[in-house]
Order: sequence, then C-alpha cells, then structure tokens
Amino acid sequence: MLGLMQSKPLLISGLIEHAAANHGDVEVVSTLHGGEQRRSNWRTVHQRARRLASALGGLGVAQGDRVATLAWNTDRHLELYYAVAGMGAVLHTVNPRLFPEQIAYILNHAEDGIVCFDLDFAGLMTQIAPQLTTVKRFVALCRPDQLPALELPGLCCYEDLLEQGDPGFQWPLLDENTASSMCYTSGTTGHPKGVLYSHRSTVLHSFTACATDGLGLNARDAVLLAVPMFHVNAWGVPYASAMCGAKLVLPGSNLSGDKLYATMRDEGCTFSLGVPTVWLGFFQYIEQHRASLDLSELRLKRVVVGGSAAPRAIIERFEQLLGVYVIQAWGMTETSPLATIGNLLPKHGGLPLDERFDVQCRQGRPIYGVEVEIFGAEGQALPHDGQQMGELRVRGPWVLSAYYGSAAGSALDAQGWFSTGDVALIDPDGYVQITDRSKDVIKSGGEWISSIDLENLAVGHPKVREAAVIGLPHSKWQERPLLIVVPKSGEQVDATELLEFMKERVARWWLPDEVVFVDELPHTATGKLLKTKLREQFRGYRLVTDPA
Ligand code: AMP
Repeated sequence: MLGLMQSKPLLISGLIEHAAANHGDVEVVSTLHGGEQRRSNWRTVHQRARRLASALGGLGVAQGDRVATLAWNTDRHLELYYAVAGMGAVLHTVNPRLFPEQIAYILNHAEDGIVCFDLDFAGLMTQIAPQLTTVKRFVALCRPDQLPALELPGLCCYEDLLEQGDPGFQWPLLDENTASSMCYTSGTTGHPKGVLYSHRSTVLHSFTACATDGLGLNARDAVLLAVPMFHVNAWGVPYASAMCGAKLVLPGSNLSGDKLYATMRDEGCTFSLGVPTVWLGFFQYIEQHRASLDLSELRLKRVVVGGSAAPRAIIERFEQLLGVYVIQAWGMTETSPLATIGNLLPKHGGLPLDERFDVQCRQGRPIYGVEVEIFGAEGQALPHDGQQMGELRVRGPWVLSAYYGSAAGSALDAQGWFSTGDVALIDPDGYVQITDRSKDVIKSGGEWISSIDLENLAVGHPKVREAAVIGLPHSKWQERPLLIVVPKSGEQVDATELLEFMKERVARWWLPDEVVFVDELPHTATGKLLKTKLREQFRGYRLVTDPA
C-alpha cells in the first residue's frame, strides 16, 4: 500500500522560492571585483535568478546543458547556482586554481556551452579559449562599464544579459533526480573526473547541514562563506542557507586573515567554514594584532573545518581566544561533501577541555543518510574498536554512484560501497579518525597535487632515472610535496635545474618545496614504488619552507 502524502519533488528552485517568501529581507552581502561591496537579499537573489534563467534560455541553454563558472564567492555566482539548476540545466563550477590545460580538459569533457567568469580570469579565458571545443559564449561577471575588450566568442556582460531576462519566468517542474550541478575532482590519479549532483541529493544534503547534529545552520546565523563556491558547492552551504534563511556573507576572492576578521566583525557573522590553511592565516592576523583588536566584537559561535585534518592548534585557539566550537567535518567531492560531522555526545558534557579537544580532533560521526565502514586488506569489515585501521567506504543518497560519463553504479562495489581512498579507524562511539591515505595525492591548502603527475614530469628530465613524490607535513599548507630523485648513473643534476624544467609544465603551487637526491628508491615485489616505506624514511623530515 502506498502512502497518501503529496509527492512534491525536492528541487533547488524550491529552496530559493522558500527563502524569498519567508526570509526575503535577509541579507546576502558580497565583496565583488576590486573590493566593491554589494548588499542584496534572498528576495532579490530569487528575482535576479529567475531573470537570469530566462535570459540563459534566450541564449539557447536547454535542460541538461552544462553552464560553467570560474568565479569567486559573490551574489552573482549564487544567482547562477539557482538560475542554472532551477531551469533544469547543470551548473559546472570549475576550480580556477588548476593548471590551464586541466581547466580546458575539464570544460571540454563536460561539454560546457557557456562559461561565466570573474574578471580576474579574463587572461586565463583568452589563453584557453582556442583549446575549447564546445564553448560558444563567454559571460563576464560584471557591469557593462567594466566589460573588457577581449577576443572571446559571444562575449557579453552579466548585467546586460540579466536585463534581457523575463522577470515573470516560472521555474519548471523537474524530476527530482535531474542533474543540477557538477564538480570535477582531481583527488585521484589520471584525468579529473566529474561528479554529477542531483536536485534530490542537494536538497537532502541541505537538510543535513541544517540539522542540529549536522552543521546546525539556522535562521539566526550569519554565515561567512570562506570555502570557495568551486569546492564541492561550498560544502552545500549556499543551498542550506536558503533552506533555513541564514544571512550569507560572500567574501569574493580575498580570504586573508585581516579581511576575514573585518568582514566577520562588520557583518556580525556567527558561523563560518573553511579549510585549515584559511584559519591559520586568520589566527596569524589575530596574533600579530592582538594588542589593537577587541576580540569581543566578534559574534562568531561555530566554525566548520574540513577538507584536510583540522590541526589541534586551530581547535584550541578557536575555543580559547574566541569561545568558538570547531566542528570538524569529513567528506569528499564524491559525497556532496558532508559525511561525518564532529558533534558531541551526552557523555562528553562534563569533559575537561583538553579531552574534549581529543574528540574534536577526530573527523566526526556519520550523519543520518550516510553509512561508513572500514575494510581490511581481504575485504572484511573491521571492528569499530578505535584500533584497527582499514579503507574507509561510504554509501548514501548524496554519495555518487558513478563518475560523469560512466554507467550508473560503476563507482561502487557489489554491496554499493564507494571506496574513498582514505584509511581510517572508527572508535566504539562511532567517531571516524582518518589516519592515512591510500590514494597517491598530496593536499596542500585544501587543493590537490598529484604526486604521480610530478613524478612523471621529473623523470621526463634527461638526467633523471627515477623519481618519487611524497607529501610532508607543513605548518601553513598542511602538506607540501618533497621530490626524491635518483639521477641517471654518471649524471649530475641539481635541484634548481630540475625545478626550472618542471616549472613550465605545472601550476606554480604544485612545484615540490624541496628536492632530495638518493641512490635508490624502495620498491614492492612487483617493482612499484613503495610509498609507505618512503614516508617512513622521511618521517620527521622538516621541509626548508616550513616556518614552524
Ligand atoms: P575533495 O574531494 O577535494 O573534497 O577531497 C576529499 C578528501 O580530502 C578526503 O578523501 C580526505 O582525504 C580529505 N579530507 C577531507 N576532509 C578531511 C578531514 N576533516 N580530515 C582529514 N582529511 C580530510
């Protein structure tokens, strides 16, 4: 027997309609190009998103078409979030920090028809435009008087485009499983892969962000979004804020400690999110200006730290300096991203702070909807005893089933689990602790560096026989690459020469911080590089670039 409740689909357009109707005056504050500040609200975001959807339709964007953004956190980007998904097209947020060739690859692979870009990326756009196979139009996110003269096909200005839209546009009624947005992840080897979210997965994920034991986002919050909107939909918060009617503060491109502090103070922010590197910069600013700052001006209550392990020092400083609770969250592009969240249990109520920090240093417990499990080398599920470590696998309604372009279910094992490439233990209370990574990547300041790409590049040098890259701890960036090289016999190669050679072929921030020369590298029985052994060998090694 079927239930007799209404079956209204869970759509992203419903989120913005709700925010406009019930929290219309709640502000959305943005820092735009050049530092200009603009104050909007949920009602205006909704009106402009409808106009934009209509205007995009006028440009020929149809349901299922991909529209790309290379953009910072601003209200225009937010309007694109709602307009593109709401009309049934797919918003493809592209990470502008990738190397230009990777960006071109991603745009071509997704078959984006339109690219909307912030003015900071005008040069990048003209550089890669000749390599793009499907892009027909470029939209500059600016006013008409700011539109630069660029050689780009169909170039137009965002505000002009918006003017052409019909303010009476009505959102279409879509199937809730319709694709809504996509992000590429370079967290694995080979080419970046696309993760395709749906309206349903996005709305369910938003409920989680608003749940008390999720991120607890609510109508009394003013959110400083210090995680980029091209990182897994800014952890879902642009959608969740509309769901609960929180004030949203979008800081543009500048996430420096002084800017974050001033914005937080001026906008009365109660809640924020970001990767550890952002918070290290924030505390560096506070510590340097301690004497002149009145920390009681801040209304901050909770901060979500994720993307990499939250250092204990961040958790402690937030509590001790600002009385702020750090919620550590773990997730991935493939998990929308919220999967485990670090809230407390009743038994932690009376804990001394030091012991409470121990709990917060773990990556949290699974939230409703997401199941997590650890598996041993033979594929057996391991006990949650806080001792045994295994590969972390996840499943749930906002975990991907396949990468874009692959058959549904192809990213899962027979039991429906998705393998994360993270190694973890789970304690008897269900808290997950990430202990290692089996995937061959380095995460620096919240962004991926492929060690395999660097190794391939290094061995391309005529004097290099073999090369390995491992991530070493770094006090500012969490991890930075160390390149370990075996020169060809009889050859002399120095670090500067090698790095010069590599510089032309990868983004600057991918370049190894240091090069070490050795006579040989450890291998497995099948001849593969034994990274575990190398990591052991270099445990405790301090990179010269680490100021700590
Ligand atoms: P991404 O797909 O870029 O969001 O990266 C996901 C990966 O980042 C995970 O598989 C982990 O390796 C890492 N990660 C994310 N959050 C955390 C966390 N709280 N602690 C440790 N590692 C994390």
